[in-house]
Amino acid sequence: MSVYVFPPPAVFSLPIKGISARFPVQRLYFVGRNYHAHAQEMGKPVDKATERPFYFTKAAQTLVQSGATVPYPSETQNYHFEMEMVVAIGKAGFRVSPDHAHELIYGYAAGLDMTRRDLQLVARDKGRPWDLGKDIENGSVCSEIVPMPEHIIDNGAIALEVNGVTKQSSDVNKLIWNVREIIADLSLFYHLQPGDLIYTGTPEGVGPVVAGDRITGRVQGVAEVALEVRA
Ligand code: MN
Repeated sequence: MSVYVFPPPAVFSLPIKGISARFPVQRLYFVGRNYHAHAQEMGKPVDKATERPFYFTKAAQTLVQSGATVPYPSETQNYHFEMEMVVAIGKAGFRVSPDHAHELIYGYAAGLDMTRRDLQLVARDKGRPWDLGKDIENGSVCSEIVPMPEHIIDNGAIALEVNGVTKQSSDVNKLIWNVREIIADLSLFYHLQPGDLIYTGTPEGVGPVVAGDRITGRVQGVAEVALEVRA
């Protein structure tokens, strides 16, 4: 057995609906600009005929469970919510074809891809990495994992409210690249592993929160997610 100079970090994990065992989380992948109306509100429309999806990652250390109260993060004046459907991977796969993509799926969750929008846009426009805008402590919010082995979700309402006021309302049938296409494409770059989470992108209506705000959201037929932001 190895001896460590300080205690190694705990395993990051999420509850699973209906069973007591937890879902050990490995990597966090995020699809950028995967709803046309959101791509347009960001000023970067997507032409699926000529473009491929793109991704960014966040450390598993950024994960926070739905229901948490988190501090408003440092070094931003424009902290944004992004409501997303999350795919939980349960089997390893590399260079998976769209036809086989469902075989990797353990289940789904509802998530928030919290974003320092001011820093993300500076980074984007200067051609710098997005890490400071996206890889934020407590910035990857996730509900319980809902087991739906090998099931493809291709429709269902996705919505978010701040203090009860609707800010985002769309349907996952508007994903530019659907669940099969995302898993297949992402698996060209990474050996997907059990425990990986894929945040599939946010619909239009993203916006800021301030200390004291309560975010609630849901993916129809999957789960609800909530977050409270304090000073
Ligand atoms: Mn996002």
